[in-house]
Amino acid sequence: MIRENINRVQERIAAACERAGRQPLSVTLVAVSKTFPAEKVREAYECGLRRFGENRVQEAEGKVAELRDLGIEWHLVGHLQSNKAGKAAEIFQFIESLDALKPAEKLNQARESSGEPLLVLLQVDLGREETKFGIPREDVLDLARRVSELPRLRIRGLMTMPPYSEDPEQARPYFRSLRELAESISRQKLSNVSMEVLSMGMSHDFEVAIEEGSTMVRVGTAIFGSRSAR
Ligand SMILES: *Cc1c(COP(=O)(O)O)cnc(C)c1O
Repeated sequence: MIRENINRVQERIAAACERAGRQPLSVTLVAVSKTFPAEKVREAYECGLRRFGENRVQEAEGKVAELRDLGIEWHLVGHLQSNKAGKAAEIFQFIESLDALKPAEKLNQARESSGEPLLVLLQVDLGREETKFGIPREDVLDLARRVSELPRLRIRGLMTMPPYSEDPEQARPYFRSLRELAESISRQKLSNVSMEVLSMGMSHDFEVAIEEGSTMVRVGTAIFGSRSAR
């Protein structure tokens, strides 16, 4: 079942790329495995997926340990608290949800100088909802400047999660706005900062995100099934 789901997601990505005049390889699929056990991740890995996303450091820790034999690139997609940053720096290769300087400093401290720098995205809150995490758009450039001075981190782009709506078209202005923000930061030519990754789009709206320039989609339900009806 996971295999068919992955095939369908890849077909949807290809079709959206075709409509947008883009190469399917320009979109990276991150399979969000939160709440699903390690065996499901292994199954998806056997279908060819290599990047997996988790939203809780503690939940990820067990899965990462269990799947150490596989060459998985683990992404943190959920809110990062400063007190979990040390552990996060050990188990993740990519932090998509950085939204403050304090956890960034902790990640930088914890990341061993011998290993690869940690890849990060700045999570932007474009909806300004009280329950959402992320930095307001007007503060992104300043945070990018400060994080760019931390030698063990590498900013690769931006991530956003628009306010939820059944209708994916409602998300389009947010996706467009994230792309424009990335373009404007890119023009600043900050050293150590790249804006090549735009992580936007989930199971129900990734086609719209791809049409608006997404280069990384975070897909859970469409691959692993519904989380509540497990
Ligand atoms: C859960 C989650 C996803 C995946 O959502 P689906 O709707 O299941 O595809 C993507 N991004 C973040 C930040 C998430 O927490």
